[in-house]
Amino acid sequence: MLRKNRLFTPGPTPLLPAAQTAMASFTAHHRTADFRALFQRVLVDMKEFIGTKNDVLVLACSGTGVMEASVSNLTSPGDKVLVLTAGKFGERWTGLAKAFGCNVDVLSAPYGETFSLTDIRARLTPDVRAVFVQATESSTGARHDVEGIAKIVGAQQDTLLVVDAITGLGTTHLDVDGWGVDVIIGGSQKALMMPPGLGYCAVSERAWQRMEKTSSPRYYFDLRKERKSAAKGETAYTPATSLFAALGAALEFIRGMGNGNLAQGRETLVNNAELCAEMTRAGAKALGLKLYASSPAAALTAISSPDGIDSGKIVKEFREAFDAVVANGQGEMKGKLFRIAHIGYYDYLDTIGILAALEHVLARTTARTADYGAAVKAAQEVYARSLTEKRQLVGV
Ligand SMILES: *Cc1c(COP(=O)(O)O)cnc(C)c1O
Repeated sequence: MLRKNRLFTPGPTPLLPAAQTAMASFTAHHRTADFRALFQRVLVDMKEFIGTKNDVLVLACSGTGVMEASVSNLTSPGDKVLVLTAGKFGERWTGLAKAFGCNVDVLSAPYGETFSLTDIRARLTPDVRAVFVQATESSTGARHDVEGIAKIVGAQQDTLLVVDAITGLGTTHLDVDGWGVDVIIGGSQKALMMPPGLGYCAVSERAWQRMEKTSSPRYYFDLRKERKSAAKGETAYTPATSLFAALGAALEFIRGMGNGNLAQGRETLVNNAELCAEMTRAGAKALGLKLYASSPAAALTAISSPDGIDSGKIVKEFREAFDAVVANGQGEMKGKLFRIAHIGYYDYLDTIGILAALEHVLARTTARTADYGAAVKAAQEVYARSLTEKRQLVGV
């Protein structure tokens, strides 16, 4: 049968056609009125997409670049920081903070789990300069309680909260300003439905003030320099111009999802991810599969491989039979789980389709007798219930 290549990976994610066309036809030089107009519109719209009044910066780098910028701009060598880690992306915070000479206290939860707020409270002493965490840990599919963590960090006078929401933004309801998140970080290749290449962040006034006093080395990623340029409608260095054109189109699409209101569009996009995730969880459970994460995120569903089966076989079968790209586990989790994303441009048919494919994939990779229709039926029931509950669906 004909096969269409489809990404179900937690980044990069499927591309919005309007974003692709916008970037293909964009040729403006970055020091022109045309680009300035696009740039300024995008920065204003990004505040609505993130849900913040704080200044937003968009940089030419992958998400990790902005993670690094948050460490280099907010800390000095020797500063005590607390890293909350429960997976490969949490471990990235540890590596980054160590690379910049921080005195790193690591509070870890086992893969698949999330943190106990009591443990965080016990570890958070007044001398901790910053806390680093993920909103959703893409390697395990876990959702962390950003609101609960923010409450604990907010009780400290001088501790900043930095949240890697690279897969959290656009898939999770986050009240950035209300909860007091000092730096929130995203990337273009996730819920914004664009290719990789842009990293972005929103920075609180407290965090801007901290940057004036810190001494870690920074040059390209000096956020103060970018903020000054942004105030004049420019970037400090050559921006990824065509990606800005794509971003403009993606934000228009999200505004359309909210009937002209971008903040509403963001909520709708999050609800869409939640519904895709709920359908997928129900489908997986109906096939007797176990979810890997105890507090699953809407960004992706990590499914444990059935006993004795290497998840690599499942990933390979999805690819060979259906040209569907799902993600294997990372690092020590390789072979133990597979991950199906719901970030950004996924709809009902994508979700039903991947679950129907999963029924075939399991029948071919395990000794189980095929249970055709079981996952699809469970997902259909979730979907039908969402209609009677009048939960918002994306209809563009
Ligand atoms: C994708 C992702 C990143 C960023 O990775 P890059 O490859 O640098 O874009 C960071 N954190 C999380 C949770 C992610 O999902």
